[in-house]
Amino acid sequence: MAGTVLLVEDEPSVGELVRAYLTRDGYRVIWVRSGEDALTELERHPVRMVLLDIGLPGKDGFDVCREIRAKSQVPILMLTARDEEPDRIVGLEVGADDYLTKPFSPRELVARMKAIFRRTEPQEHRDTFALGDVTLDRESHDVTVDGKPIELTAKEFDLLAFFMANVGVVVSRDLLLDRVWGQEYPGGTRTVDVHVAQLRRKLGRPTLIRTLRGTGYKAISQ
Ligand code: CA
Repeated sequence: MAGTVLLVEDEPSVGELVRAYLTRDGYRVIWVRSGEDALTELERHPVRMVLLDIGLPGKDGFDVCREIRAKSQVPILMLTARDEEPDRIVGLEVGADDYLTKPFSPRELVARMKAIFRRTEPQEHRDTFALGDVTLDRESHDVTVDGKPIELTAKEFDLLAFFMANVGVVVSRDLLLDRVWGQEYPGGTRTVDVHVAQLRRKLGRPTLIRTLRGTGYKAISQ
């Protein structure tokens, strides 16, 4: 599970789209149509992010944002109508983490959410990583290079995840065997070399994981 998202949106078409996409992406979505309901639901569930429309019946998104901020640091992404520049500024002033202008694509929404998670969540709880233009999501198992999805085997994924969690650290082949392969390593350290080579080829970023002669490998932040 990617966590619970509280979606505050009174427009059915936007709400349906966002709920369907995020649910497919592994999020649990609580969808409410008003700010009053949002404040109630926030008390009831551990919420990882609030997606908050500005134009709502009753309290508007700014008021709701202020009220949430008075008691919670939950990340808030505001959804604004097109060309409402003053709205965006006010949104950030009242404590929103970011804003997204309608109409937006679901992929754009998810990318923005992940960027906020990266900024706001402590490293040890992190499940999304970025290194240069490579991103990795441990929950959804998505890897992208320059925004495009890349298919990796399970071992290649685990290997990349280990490198991305240990950027700048020299890791020996034995350590990689232990952490990524555990007990079963048929080809010995040669297995590591083969997988690193495949990983570099699939990513198309040969300098991302550097070979250190005699010692092992090091992932380099670009
Ligand atoms: Ca609205």
